[in-house]
Amino acid sequence: RSSKEKFDRVSNLTVAVRIRPMNSRELACVGAANVVKVRNQELVIRSNPLGNSAMSLDHVFQYDHIFWSCDESDSLYSSQEDVFTTVGQPLLNSAFRGYNACLFAYGQTGSGKSFSMMGPTTCDVVDIDSEFSGITPRFCRELFERVSELSPQSSVSVEVSYFEIYNEKIHDLLAISNSASKTPLKVREHPEWGPYVVDLSVHNVKSYKELRNWLLLGNKNRATAATTMNEKSSRSHSIFSIELCLTEGLGENDSSRRSKVSLIDLAGSERLVGSHNSDEKIRQGVSINKSLLTLGKVISALADQKKNQFVPYRDSVLTWLLKESLGGNSLTCMLATITPANTHLDETLATLRYACQAR
Ligand code: ADP
Repeated sequence: RSSKEKFDRVSNLTVAVRIRPMNSRELACVGAANVVKVRNQELVIRSNPLGNSAMSLDHVFQYDHIFWSCDESDSLYSSQEDVFTTVGQPLLNSAFRGYNACLFAYGQTGSGKSFSMMGPTTCDVVDIDSEFSGITPRFCRELFERVSELSPQSSVSVEVSYFEIYNEKIHDLLAISNSASKTPLKVREHPEWGPYVVDLSVHNVKSYKELRNWLLLGNKNRATAATTMNEKSSRSHSIFSIELCLTEGLGENDSSRRSKVSLIDLAGSERLVGSHNSDEKIRQGVSINKSLLTLGKVISALADQKKNQFVPYRDSVLTWLLKESLGGNSLTCMLATITPANTHLDETLATLRYACQAR
């Protein structure tokens, strides 16, 4: 028996799911089992993987892409490069055509968001240079490769910013002065250009080498903030943005295209119920739920545009700031990350349903 939950494709919105390998902690649990299977482009959750299959109810989910990253020897295996090619490259194409784009990694803490977006972390340092580097460094490397192939009549400007939203407050991860990095920044809405972060540092970069330094600095600042404030890394959203301005032609006949791509590592989606033991925690939990909940509502309202739905961008800092990168001609991709371990079955189902609701 199976219950089927289908994701209906909406042209500008792509939903993908990635399944990471079980870790040693999960494997050490008594009765450890893998509950996820990929079958005919469908993701199947076996609620009773070790028992009598006739008695169990399978949940079947459909998405645009399913990345099975559990076992390298499996023919279905998707590497970091495969994931980038499928979900990252279309965003790059879109940016060069002058359209905004954004990509979110969504999932419970430890499910592979930051591995997918940046790369593996060892002792608080993220590896963005090896074959295991994630979507963001690959995106940036390829961006400059394409820039080098442009005709001599083209000129290009690339600007990057990197910030974090924690408790609905914005912190610059690339601020030069120490005091600036500590002061929360505000959002304002420009009548023409839309919402923006007041006083956020923006850095012009001429090469991948320069950009890489900013990425490393931002990742380092993120890790430092997470160590000084317990649990911050799992409760904050990090947003790395690249603004591309391409001018082609010379003199009077030139034409400019401007686009912005935001690559976002969302806060852990785990339900906070039961973990509250102080008012502060409740406050943090509420605001994180608010951003993730609002993002879900915004994406599903956008997917439902035909019905002229109201899109509640301003209900959270995250969605307000991304207003110009969500909807319209923008390309949006949601990458939901899950573990196949039976011990996290409830969270995995919640993640898969959140991704399904984005339709
Ligand atoms: P999150 O950002 O969701 O909290 P991480 O990306 O830090 O989770 O992943 C948790 C652990 O799992 C890390 O040690 C990471 O290297 C590993 N991991 C995650 N995804 C994969 C994957 N697809 N393949 C191999 N290891 C992975």
